[in-house]
Amino acid sequence: MLDLKEINLNRFQLHVLLNEEEAEAYRYIVQEGTYCVHCKDVCVEGVDVKENILNGTNDILIRGNCIKCKGNVSRFIEYGEFEDFVERANSFRKAIGE
Ligand SMILES: [Zn+2]
Repeated sequence: MLDLKEINLNRFQLHVLLNEEEAEAYRYIVQEGTYCVHCKDVCVEGVDVKENILNGTNDILIRGNCIKCKGNVSRFIEYGEFEDFVERANSFRKAIGE
């Protein structure tokens, strides 16, 4: 299995990395697709995203706070399964020298 460096993405880098469809899925997940263990429900008011991490298997880990209860939430988006995303992620890694 690949073991790549974890990269903390800024919003601009995230935008560059995601195609339109993936950006749409990302928005959905942030707005209404993340479960909050504190509310025992999805984050009905969405997530205040603090970090987007491209992890060692080219998945994206979102870390933030449930806007309703302010509790910590995190959510994986398994982009690493998609070949075209992995290609983009790897050329991005190359471009920033990682
Ligand atoms: Zn909550």
